[in-house]
Amino acid sequence: MTLLDGKLLSEQIKAELAAEVEQIKLQGGKIPHLAAIIVGENPASQVYVSSKIRSCEQVGFKSSLVRCEAATTQEELLAIVQKLNNDPDVDGFIVQLPLPKHIDEEAVTLAIDPKKDVDGFHPVNFGRMAQGLPAFLPATPMGILEILRRYNIETSGKHCVVLGRSNIVGTPISILLSRKGYPGDCTVTLTHSRTKDLPAEVRRADILVAAIGIPEFVKADWVKEGAVVIDVGINRIPDESKKSGTRIAGDVDFEGVAPHCSFITPVPGGVGLMTVAALMMNTLKACKGEIYGK
Ligand code: NDP
Repeated sequence: MTLLDGKLLSEQIKAELAAEVEQIKLQGGKIPHLAAIIVGENPASQVYVSSKIRSCEQVGFKSSLVRCEAATTQEELLAIVQKLNNDPDVDGFIVQLPLPKHIDEEAVTLAIDPKKDVDGFHPVNFGRMAQGLPAFLPATPMGILEILRRYNIETSGKHCVVLGRSNIVGTPISILLSRKGYPGDCTVTLTHSRTKDLPAEVRRADILVAAIGIPEFVKADWVKEGAVVIDVGINRIPDESKKSGTRIAGDVDFEGVAPHCSFITPVPGGVGLMTVAALMMNTLKACKGEIYGK
């Protein structure tokens, strides 16, 4: 069993990005600039946004963080989105989800200029992705593709089973892995809460992507010998042996499943870090006009 080391890969990617930023600086080009909007005090969101800003610093990008009170109205937030859309110095920006209940996430996502949508959540980018056109890919699925690519994992003709059909993970990764070319050309089964006999579906997987949000849900006897397992889940569960009283667990029972796999991502240290690395890659693409031109 080989551990798919998201920490190592994300450090590699960040080093590559930092080297490119150095070159841009030497040539007097524009330094990539990522902005993030955070609304309210959700502790998990604070952690995610800080890690994105820290990554910008590591690679030499410019970053700006717009902090909004939890009581910010939808109109006020939309005005901030418009401001960033119109700011020529900002190459890409994200609105950290979830948003407070009184704000319509869909309306906010739709307001983001697709050319600056480095999270890849706008339907224009989603549609372009589905048709195989140049697009900002959603960061978590893009991070998964990068893991497969950098570990040279064969995907052509493999049976891939995806657990979960969210718009940000399950559905896009199922589309991406079924697209023509590498890493793709898989035969994909997309499963969800209405799927009958989930363990039987999972047993057919050469490549399993688990993104449902239930800690340690996938058990050892569901997984085919030699399968590649990508665990997207980030779940906080009680653990009295930890000072904090909790620990982070994936959607896969790692201890039980790992001995049966050819490759597996750990949680933490797997897909989460690659998500941030993918966001950085998208920001550089935005700055260089690689998707939509300058
Ligand atoms: P959502 O909560 O949006 O979707 C969960 C999906 O799982 C749904 O499609 C749901 O089915 C399905 N599901 C729920 N229960 C079951 C069940 N018992 N059997 C089969 N399917 C089930 O999830 P997200 O995609 O947003 O997140 C999934 C996990 O990934 C979470 O732990 C989240 O924290 C993590 N995550 C990690 C990221 C990273 O960077 N590593 C990024 C994003 C998320 P239905 O559609 O029928 O309701």
